[in-house]
Amino acid sequence: MALIVQKYGGTSVGSVERIEAVAAKVKGWRDQGHDVIVVVSAMSGETNRLVELARQIQDRPVPRELDVLLSTGEQVTIALLSMALNKLGCAARSYTGHQVHIRTDSTHNKARILDIDDKRIRHDLDQGRIVVVAGFQGMDEEGNITTLGRGGSDTSAVALAAALKADECQIYTDVDGVYTTDPRVVPEARRLERITFEEMLEMASLGSKVLQIRSVEFAGKYNVPLRVLSSFEEGEGTLITYEEEEMEEALISGIAFNRDEAKLTIVGVPDQPGVASKILSPIGKSNIEVDMIIQNVGADGTTDFTFTVHRNDYGKALAVLEQTKQELGAREVSGDNKIVKISLVGVGMRSHAGIAGTMFEALANEGINIRMISTSEIKISVVVDEKYLELGVRALHSAFGLDDKQK
Ligand code: ASP
Ligand code: MG
Repeated sequence: MALIVQKYGGTSVGSVERIEAVAAKVKGWRDQGHDVIVVVSAMSGETNRLVELARQIQDRPVPRELDVLLSTGEQVTIALLSMALNKLGCAARSYTGHQVHIRTDSTHNKARILDIDDKRIRHDLDQGRIVVVAGFQGMDEEGNITTLGRGGSDTSAVALAAALKADECQIYTDVDGVYTTDPRVVPEARRLERITFEEMLEMASLGSKVLQIRSVEFAGKYNVPLRVLSSFEEGEGTLITYEEEEMEEALISGIAFNRDEAKLTIVGVPDQPGVASKILSPIGKSNIEVDMIIQNVGADGTTDFTFTVHRNDYGKALAVLEQTKQELGAREVSGDNKIVKISLVGVGMRSHAGIAGTMFEALANEGINIRMISTSEIKISVVVDEKYLELGVRALHSAFGLDDKQK
């Protein structure tokens, strides 16, 4: 018998029929003798509807009041799910975040969970009840309702699993797991049986939007085994855990990509101590996040400096850089916002040489020019022209043997 935390997202509880289907699923686990805590999101579209209502009153609604409003979405689903469970003969009780003492900081609209008092939940579990908890919400020190940021129910579930030392945290969603890459780009993409927390973080931050990133960080920190699976189909989903010695590591777990990239170059800056900071500080002060950075080897006392930013920040970054050009007496500023980033991710990279070579060769064979390269311990990223995104991802997917041969 295990203690399992399950989280069902908005689509999974999008109608009364679906809520009843979730109840039947939960009952199945309970009937096998497991203790079950269920965390739910608001019904699909509900949070957006509430945000829209608030916006009709104020362009930027008072954050505290917005939280009071948004937290109602989840309150509806916990009650309906508990009713559905009771109808099936399963004793169940629903609780809002504050009722089970999900204590957060006071950053309204994106609060962080500080701690959870598990007494009430334990008591219910001991009584044989299923406990249904509203995701996405908590309460600060002063008793104000807070919410955790969009997609925050994932984090609620992981935090509950950590606090109660659950055996597994299962995130039920509308996909059946984490894939080697986006199946819309590569139809041969495969579902991964397992992936490590580190890999998942790299995949998620690069655009594989299956889970709220913060929930993965949280799960990694507290070592909560996390499983992503479909609420509509049977299956094992994808287990996100730490590496195990005896696991035979795949070299590469997946290929992530990001379409929202832009790059900027400042040419002919004096090659002196402090230039990198003089170029990037004003960018940072303008709240623009920088991703890759490359500085060329200097020649004739000057050097070139290139970096990437989110495509939405491109115009703003160009303007800031023009200013810097004047100040530093640089030669020229140029940029390109039709670029994308493709990344190979895999912990197997740590112990295997030659991966970069294989990657560059596969791209070269397709005539794809690499504009920038960056590496970390478990990731190699390249920047290429936007028009090569699909071709590049497909070429790499097959070069690293990730294609599902059945498809
Ligand atoms: N209902 C919230 C949202 O739509 C939280 C969640 O679904 O995780 O973002
Ligand atoms: Mg979600």
